[in-house]
Amino acid sequence: MARLILLGAPGAGKGTQAKALATLVQIPHISTGDILREAVAHQTALGVKAKSYMEQGNLVPDDLVIALIRERLSQPDAQTGWILDGFPRNESQAAFLDELLEEMDQVYRYAVNLEVPDDVLVQRMLGRGRADDTEEVIRRRLQVYHHQTAPLINFYQVRHKLVSIDGNVTPEAVLDKLKSLL
Ligand code: ADP
Repeated sequence: MARLILLGAPGAGKGTQAKALATLVQIPHISTGDILREAVAHQTALGVKAKSYMEQGNLVPDDLVIALIRERLSQPDAQTGWILDGFPRNESQAAFLDELLEEMDQVYRYAVNLEVPDDVLVQRMLGRGRADDTEEVIRRRLQVYHHQTAPLINFYQVRHKLVSIDGNVTPEAVLDKLKSLL
């Protein structure tokens, strides 16, 4: 059963890699960022609540994201595996995920950290032009990453689940490494 958690800063390439891997292995790519952007675009109750946090580069409150993940992981297509991209993003989300998976009798293989230097991340995000990819918001997202998400590297390391991959190489080279983990 293929279950992977992708860690890494904004712009590290999680989305690109998760999409490619999910197609290859035929399991769902679950991106909280994509789900939230879609909710914002459709002005659903979730989207209306999440919008201002996303625009400022802050994390959307845990209760919203946790409810979203609980519901997504219970869908039939997620029972044979998944690639998680953008979740968990802080320690309480990570602790929730471990509990949920235990409850569901599921285990993940690895949490993969895609390592990319900050200056490269900024250049990549500026080139991508998403609504929240202005320089000011990018700086805020990196700050949030270093304060809240980077500690998850240690969270997974102590659980012997962490694998680190150099993300500052071609997308093909990163994908080859990821394939070898499945
Ligand atoms: P990136 O990895 O480039 O920052 P994402 O698409 O993963 O982009 O996330 C975009 C935004 O969506 C984040 O800045 C945040 O506001 C919100 N978001 C996504 N996932 C989460 C999460 N797990 N917890 C809280 N907020 C989230």
